Amino acid sequence: MTSSKQYEAVIGLEVHAQLATNSKLFCSDATTYGASPNTQISPITMGHPGSLPKTNKKAVEFAIKMGLACGSSIVKENYFARKNYFYPDLPKGYQISQHTTPICAGGKVQIKIEGQKRFVQLNRIHLEEDAGKSIHDIDPTHTLIDLNRAGTPLIEIVTEPDLYSAEEAFAYVTEIRKLVQWLGICNGNMEEGSLRCDANVSVRLKGEKKLGTRVEVKNLNSIRNVKKAIEFEITRLIEILESGGTITQQTRSFDASNDTTFAIRDKEEANDYRYFPDPDLAPFVLSESYIDAIKTGLPILPAAVEEKLMTQFQLSAYDAAQLCESLATVHYFEATAQHTINFKSVANWMLGPIKSYLNEAGLDYNKLALQPTTLANLIRLIDEGQLNFSVAASKILPQITDGKKTDVLAIATELNVLQVNDADTLEKWVDAAIASMPDKVIEYQKGKKGLIGLFIGAVKKISQGQADPNKVGDMLMKKLNK
Ligand code: ADP
Ligand code: MG
Repeated sequence: MTSSKQYEAVIGLEVHAQLATNSKLFCSDATTYGASPNTQISPITMGHPGSLPKTNKKAVEFAIKMGLACGSSIVKENYFARKNYFYPDLPKGYQISQHTTPICAGGKVQIKIEGQKRFVQLNRIHLEEDAGKSIHDIDPTHTLIDLNRAGTPLIEIVTEPDLYSAEEAFAYVTEIRKLVQWLGICNGNMEEGSLRCDANVSVRLKGEKKLGTRVEVKNLNSIRNVKKAIEFEITRLIEILESGGTITQQTRSFDASNDTTFAIRDKEEANDYRYFPDPDLAPFVLSESYIDAIKTGLPILPAAVEEKLMTQFQLSAYDAAQLCESLATVHYFEATAQHTINFKSVANWMLGPIKSYLNEAGLDYNKLALQPTTLANLIRLIDEGQLNFSVAASKILPQITDGKKTDVLAIATELNVLQVNDADTLEKWVDAAIASMPDKVIEYQKGKKGLIGLFIGAVKKISQGQADPNKVGDMLMKKLNK
């Protein structure tokens, strides 16, 4: 930008999270992903005349869970409204949503950018049903329609215009994804569309209080695309203003093939949708005790767990945050920490070699067969000097990840990788190493102390990696310094 003017971007995000219920929001049709097209569509999903919808309690509970986790206030008197529009994948000709009574009002979500924490304000979280899917890339000349997804429960989590960069938006969606998975209310799978994001972007001169005209980029299906789309829009909008143009409120789509966006339509206004209360669905009222019961059942939230890991287990803020990636990870850590007091080592194993293994195998901590007790035993052998870490990671770990073998000492013995601590044996190896390099011994004694590494290396070779390097170092120094 060559202009002297300073612009600021303002972003508001709408995240749709598909709730992990077995059935749809208003009927018992299954919500299984990947089922044969148009097999999960009863007359209720199709909106046939005379069919009557009924609200799924689990979906209501899930929405409340999210609201409580975000500190929203739960709205007690709720009703559903019809949002009317025509679209091929909307069989009823309207979508059932919550128009004026979102089930959760306000709230906030903590994000972290380069170690700095900040709260992003939420506007609301409301319940609504999903539409079907139009498929454009199977038949060359026709669009195919799969209505299985129609009627699937969603929550839409809407922020205030309270994000100010693509990086913040990235951090926010990452946090939302973690939170819905943590609560067990959505699988967070963006590739399958279980979590989708619309990004509203505007720019204004720095210091200006009024919001600029926004554009909305629809249906971003990865966190990276959220960031890229916003980056593209910020630059595009500033360029329009710089060249003296005006921004029109628009709905746009992201083109992942070249990281740009294109206009799909000028924005419709709320009154274009002719909202009205759904006459087939009775309003529902939530009691205080019902909400309290859900609150009591909430798992401990990530921020509280991070604190706990730091105070109770003396972990660094970094390790604590990494372990809070998922509830399963935390559970695994806590289970292992019951069998060892070397908590730091548990964190190192979990965030290092075990994590690499899980990534490669496409698994996560709730699918790890390695028993926490086995990991604790492995750590104990290392702490006792019987095994060294790199041998344990490269040779023992691959043998125990499937959970079948649990006796790490037996495995280490069989592989002949136990470290030797016995002084006589160590001395034999140390003497052999010294004897093999008489000229280096002279150089060392003349002051080239850095050569110690060479001797340690020689002992390592002679002992085939079995000598305890700490003891070897001490012994070598004593002998060479004589
Ligand atoms: P709609 O439902 O029509 O998309 P909303 O008023 O509910 O509109 O707002 C949707 C999202 O757009 C919210 O996250 C809100 O914070 C954000 N938003 C509204 N105005 C702006 C703006 N001028 N710049 C950036 N974001 C905005
Ligand atoms: Mg919107």
